[in-house]
Amino acid sequence: LVSRKRKAEDTIVDINGHKIGDGTPSFIYGPCAVESYEQVLAVALSIKAKGLTMIRGGAYKPRTSPYDFQGLGLEGLKILKRVADETGLSVVTEIITPSHLEEALEYIDVVQIGARNMQNFELLKEAGMINKPVLLKRGLAATIDEFIHAAEYILSKGNSQIILCERGIRTYERATRNTLDISAVPILKQETHLPVFVDVTHSTGRKDLLLPTAKAAIAVGADGVMAEVHPDPAVALSDSAQQMDLQQFDEFYDAINQFMNTHTTI
Ligand code: PEP
Ligand code: MN
Repeated sequence: LVSRKRKAEDTIVDINGHKIGDGTPSFIYGPCAVESYEQVLAVALSIKAKGLTMIRGGAYKPRTSPYDFQGLGLEGLKILKRVADETGLSVVTEIITPSHLEEALEYIDVVQIGARNMQNFELLKEAGMINKPVLLKRGLAATIDEFIHAAEYILSKGNSQIILCERGIRTYERATRNTLDISAVPILKQETHLPVFVDVTHSTGRKDLLLPTAKAAIAVGADGVMAEVHPDPAVALSDSAQQMDLQQFDEFYDAINQFMNTHTTI
């Protein structure tokens, strides 16, 4: 069902009226994790000031170590909702278990399925039965074919509002946190009719590479870019090294806009 052969036209994902996949790149910014109302609001105001419409932030954090910050859970969803109500932004947030999905829906606009859950088939099936868009991230070591099949699980249950997100894969290379598979973007665009995003934060894990990889993503035809922004990354409870602060965010935003104004997609 996700195949371009089954449906030639691009699927456009509608997030409260904001269209993803209509030819103009979209941007999803926000902190790695929801830490407090003040923290999320600070980022939200900066996003809103730029005329953008979406914010991300994790309330359930799938961390490598059980001793690391696991997220605020439902409390985090309530913070996101409060900020969304006050700013008009749409909320993109990760859900890690089917049992959280139902209760989360009233607080959020887009369900993110993270890399670690790309093959959580029960979660995929549940996400296929909701009437909210799903942002599906590529698994840590998933092939493109496996990634496409994960999207198929969602669509097979009826939900076609799916955004695919390339976020880097595990290779032998350690210069970056993961290896951004930039060619996955045009391949996914050819093979499927779904919009494709690139997460430049989790793929590179390096602030100095956010801008060049975001430019590359747009140049190869990505429908959007995701990046993490935190008001004070030094004290962030997760991904402290790679989140942009608000000033870096302003610079990134200006640079990427300038790039889009002067370059066309390949
Ligand atoms: C995230 O976007 O918050 C995240 C945990 O990313 P990933 O699932 O790609 O590792
Ligand atoms: Mn993160």
